[in-house]
Amino acid sequence: MYDILIVGASTTGCWFAEKMASQGFRVLVVEKDEPVNVSRAYDVFHMSRPEMEQFGLIIPEPENPIRAFSFADSPMRSPYGNYPKASSGGPETIGLHKHEYIMLMAQRAIKAGAEIIYGASFTDLIFDKNGKVAGGKYKTADGEKEVRAKLVADCSGIPSAARTKLPDTSVVDNHKLTEKDILYVVLYYVEYLDKTIDPRTLDGFFLQYKSWSAPSGNPNGAILGIGAFYGYDVAQEVFNSQFLKNVAFPEYKIEKIEKGMTPYHRSVYSFVDDGFIAMGDAAFLTKPTCGEGCTSSLVQGEIAVDVISKLLKEGKELSRDNMWSINKRYMQTQGKDFDSMRPLLMGIISPGCDEAEHLFANDIIFSQKILGNVDTGFELNTKDIAQIIKGVVSGIAKKDLSPATIGKIGKGLINSMKIGAHYDAYPDSPYEFYKWKSKADKLWKQIGYVADTTDPEILKKTGR
Ligand SMILES: Cc1cc2nc3c(=O)[nH]c(=O)nc-3n(C[C@H](O)[C@H](O)[C@H](O)COP(=O)(O)OP(=O)(O)OC[C@H]3O[C@@H](n4cnc5c(N)ncnc54)[C@H](O)[C@@H]3O)c2cc1C
Repeated sequence: MYDILIVGASTTGCWFAEKMASQGFRVLVVEKDEPVNVSRAYDVFHMSRPEMEQFGLIIPEPENPIRAFSFADSPMRSPYGNYPKASSGGPETIGLHKHEYIMLMAQRAIKAGAEIIYGASFTDLIFDKNGKVAGGKYKTADGEKEVRAKLVADCSGIPSAARTKLPDTSVVDNHKLTEKDILYVVLYYVEYLDKTIDPRTLDGFFLQYKSWSAPSGNPNGAILGIGAFYGYDVAQEVFNSQFLKNVAFPEYKIEKIEKGMTPYHRSVYSFVDDGFIAMGDAAFLTKPTCGEGCTSSLVQGEIAVDVISKLLKEGKELSRDNMWSINKRYMQTQGKDFDSMRPLLMGIISPGCDEAEHLFANDIIFSQKILGNVDTGFELNTKDIAQIIKGVVSGIAKKDLSPATIGKIGKGLINSMKIGAHYDAYPDSPYEFYKWKSKADKLWKQIGYVADTTDPEILKKTGR
C-alpha cells in the first residue's frame, strides 16, 4: 500500500514526488513513456529565477549543458511592436532543455525515496466499497497491474488520465479539454541573416496575436512563438497573415519548428475528492496570458504538500473534507488572480490593431500597471480607474477609439470583477460547493470562451 500514487513524471509529478518522498511517505509514480521519450514535444522551456527559488527547483550553473541560456524577462508590446511595457517577471529567466531537466527532477525524486515506473500507462481508478478512490491500474509491457494508495494524484497533463475516470457525481470536473480550451503552440527557431542585429532588442510578448519573440540560445537568433485555439494551422495562419505582417522582423532563416499543446481554461473548481487530487496541467493551472504552467502549477502544489503531509502525519484520512482547504487556499489567491484575468483579457484583446496601438501609446488599459502584472494579479485603485475613464473619453472624442470597443473592454472589466468576487466567496466546506458551482457555471456561460475572440476570417481560411 502506497501513501501516494502519482500519474505522470513530468514537472508537476516529479516535484510532488520529491516533496512527499523526502518526508518519508511511500510514493509511486507511473509514467507512460520510456525515459528516453519523456517530455520531448519541445526542447527548451524557461522559468524565472525567483520562482525556481520559491519552489526549491534546481538551478543549473551556466556551464551545465542542461541550462540553455538566461535572459531578463521581456516586455509586452503593441500590435505594431511599439511602446514596450516591462513585465514584472523578474530580472532573470532561465532557459532549460526540458527532457534533460525533467530527468534531473526524476533523479531527485528517486533519491528522496520515490519509485518511478516508466513505460507504465495509467488506465483506470480503483474505488473502495464506499465509492472512494483507493488506487489505480496501469499497463506495462508485462500486462495490467493494480496498486493501492491513500491518494491518487493526477499529474498527467492534458490527457488527465485519472481525473477523467472520476464519476459524474465527483466534485472534481471530469471533462476532457476541447479544441476551444487548448492553446496550440508553434515555435519557430529562427536565425537572423544580418549578424549585426541584436535579437534581444526585438524580444517581447504581443498579446493581440498571443505571439512572442524570445531567446533561443542562438546569439543571432530567436524563438518566434504563437499560440491559438482550434489547431496548429490556425496558429500558423495568424502568425503569417497578421503577426509577421504587422510586426517587422529582419530577414531570417528558419532553423526548426516545434509544436505543443497547453491548457487555456479556468482551473477545475475542486482539485480534491476522496483519495484524489488533480494537479498541474491536469487541473488547468497555466498562466492566463501565455499558457506557461511549470511554476504556476506549483503554487497549488505547495498548498497540497502542506495540507496532505499534515494529514498523513496525523494519521488522518485523505478525504475530500479533510483536503478541502487546498481548494479554498488556492482559489482565494492565485486561482482568483488567474481566473479573473481571463474575462479581462477577452476585453483587452478585442480592439483592432490601430485602436490597441492608441491605447498602448497613451498608457490606457494597456498600461504598465495592468500589462506588467497580468500573470501575477493587480488591484486597480480609484486613481487608476479615473485615469482609464479620462483616456477613454478623450479617445472616443478624438475618434481614436470606438464606443463598441470600449463597451467590450468595460464588459471584460466587469466580468473580471464578478469572477474575482465569486472566487473570494469560495465555500469553506464541500457542503456549500454545489450552490457556489452553479453560480460560477452561470458566470462562465455569460463570459464565454477566449477562443470566441478568434478572427472569423482566420477560421474561414482554415476551413472551420
Ligand atoms: C510549446 C510549449 C512551450 C512551453 N513553454 C513553457 C515555458 O517556457 N515555461 C513554462 O512554465 N511552461 C511552458 N509550457 C507549459 C508547460 O509545458 C506545462 O504547463 C507543463 O509541462 C505542465 O507540466 P505537468 O507535469 O503538469 O504536465 P505534462 O508536462 O504534460 O506531463 C504529464 C506527464 O504525464 C504523462 N502521462 C500522460 N498520460 C499518462 C498516462 N495515462 N499514464 C502515465 N503517464 C501519463 C506524460 O507522458 C507526461 O510525462 C509550454 C508549453 C508548450 C506547449
